[in-house]
Amino acid sequence: MKEIQERVMMAIERLWEEEVFFLQTLGRFPSTLGNEGAIQAYVADYFSNVLKLEVDKFVPEPKTLSEHPAYVPVEWSYTGRPVVVGTARTKGKSVGKSLILQSHVDVVSPEPMQEWDYHPWKATIVGDRMYGRGIQDMKAGMAAMIFAYRGIQEAGIRLGADVIFQSVIEEECTGNGALAALERGHIADGALIPEPFGLKAVTAQVGVIWLRIKVKGIGAHTERADQAVNPIEKAYVLLKALEQYEKHINQQPKHPAFVHHPHPLNVNIGTLHSGDWPSSVPSECTLEVRIGFYPQIDPAKIQKEVKAWIMEACYQDEWLSHTKPELAFFGFKAKGAEINKDEPLLQTLAKVHEHVHGTKLNTTSITAKTDIRTFLLEYGIPATCYGPVGEGMHGTNEWVDLKSVKDVTKTYAAFILEWCGVRS
Ligand SMILES: [Zn+2]
Repeated sequence: MKEIQERVMMAIERLWEEEVFFLQTLGRFPSTLGNEGAIQAYVADYFSNVLKLEVDKFVPEPKTLSEHPAYVPVEWSYTGRPVVVGTARTKGKSVGKSLILQSHVDVVSPEPMQEWDYHPWKATIVGDRMYGRGIQDMKAGMAAMIFAYRGIQEAGIRLGADVIFQSVIEEECTGNGALAALERGHIADGALIPEPFGLKAVTAQVGVIWLRIKVKGIGAHTERADQAVNPIEKAYVLLKALEQYEKHINQQPKHPAFVHHPHPLNVNIGTLHSGDWPSSVPSECTLEVRIGFYPQIDPAKIQKEVKAWIMEACYQDEWLSHTKPELAFFGFKAKGAEINKDEPLLQTLAKVHEHVHGTKLNTTSITAKTDIRTFLLEYGIPATCYGPVGEGMHGTNEWVDLKSVKDVTKTYAAFILEWCGVRS
């Protein structure tokens, strides 16, 4: 095995420039929500022509998926936005365990673009860093998992079990892409997702819900502003209430996986829209909120709790007590998740990480969510995230450390050899 590993590591070194170029190519697709079609076409083509995988490219069907409790209803269409699955099928009886390597291609908006030092869609390299929207989260991880396999192929190794590559959409808003691939039957004995948490394995993550609040007012010209009701001012009442809610949930006893985290649960006001003219009182104000909560809690329970909290605040305000805001839960309704530290998947990862890096593998509980919840909770597939080092995801000047991308590539290759086994 040692000799095989050496050969694969050397192949990864030889392919490094190509890997960097591949990552730049991925980074130049502006694959925000609704715009994943082009990158998925490129990935499907790469899976089929370069990796020689069996490719299944399909558009998620809300009708069939909605029968699954983890499906989240959406306000948009899936037309032209496929999920791509590529399978490296082993020949003969499996001698190891099958593996899913999953990545999402959707990225969040790069706005405000003018705040970036490097164009978000140009994948600029400066020293050891590559800059761009989605480079860290998580196109670098995708390049790493693909080139781990390229290294194995290049070294002429035949694997003992199937490796399934899943290139999904909507990790950033629903998780329906991950669900669609698994519901379609593309399952395995374990899954790794190279989300960029700095060469650490994720052992717990929070749950997340989204909420939209529409506050009504009475619009008017400002000369009659005394008779109008400004919904922006009324939204302020609710912003204060949400701030108190965040304080309240963080004052409760912490979940054991998050005891060392100073502030595990975030309530984020992500958007606020109202008005279109300085001299008009707007008639409506809409805000969108993201709320985190601990594993083992039903998202529906949090939705109820948040709704009651907001309504309580409304009763304290004369206008809001009779003109109640409209509350709509949309997007994420994601449970928190944990993976048992004794899980063989984690032990194998710890072993290969130590082998490649010479240091112990650290684990982390994250205050965000990833697609691992769908594997762990809905399909009982052991799963974790392990990916490169970087900064600025969902912010400006997002970058990845290229050295860490090479490290992740090597760790994934060693993991695949160990987990899937090798045919002699
Ligand atoms: Zn991500």
